[in-house]
Amino acid sequence: MSTANVIDEVVPAGEPWMGVVRRGQSFRIVDLEGNQAVDTLFYNAADTAEAYSAQNTIQAQQRIYLTTGTVLLSNRGNAMLRIEDDTCGRHDTLGGACSAESNTVRYALEKRSMHSCRDSFLLALATHDLRMTKRDLPSNINFFMNVPVTPEGQLRFADGISAAGRHVQMTALMDTLVLISNCPQLNNPCNAYNPTPIRVMTWDPA
Ligand SMILES: [Zn+2]
Repeated sequence: MSTANVIDEVVPAGEPWMGVVRRGQSFRIVDLEGNQAVDTLFYNAADTAEAYSAQNTIQAQQRIYLTTGTVLLSNRGNAMLRIEDDTCGRHDTLGGACSAESNTVRYALEKRSMHSCRDSFLLALATHDLRMTKRDLPSNINFFMNVPVTPEGQLRFADGISAAGRHVQMTALMDTLVLISNCPQLNNPCNAYNPTPIRVMTWDPA
């Protein structure tokens, strides 16, 4: 896990990543090659029972997409991070994370053994011995993923609107544990059928 004060790492295609962003620090995710879904969970680093809540965030901002100005709220209603800069323009928090189970239901029984974000999250939690299990997986954000909602209220997993080099940048409003699955999904266009690396960076305020 990255606990260094300043982080600058490339996360390979399909891999999980964990790190801590300190209160006041900037946190940037770069979509290096374009149209890569970055499934992300946020926890209060001091108490992981507090975690990002899609429901509270959507309710507070009265909008379903996330972009510059969005304050990411926890299940306790506390501000965790604020999106300060966004060259993609829109991020999803409704579509959830892919799993062996959803791959089986959506696509085919033979897809069950494929890598998935849920398995990546659980692998990272087990690797870092945080005594956290599937019970501790809160709602997630899919940075750079395009999940438009139709006028009839349906969710679509659509071709991405991101591109190589686009980024999203946040300021941490509390010490935040970040858990990323750099999505390995190959069955829908969330990664343009080609998972690619991302870059994660943190730095101290000027
Ligand atoms: Zn995924």
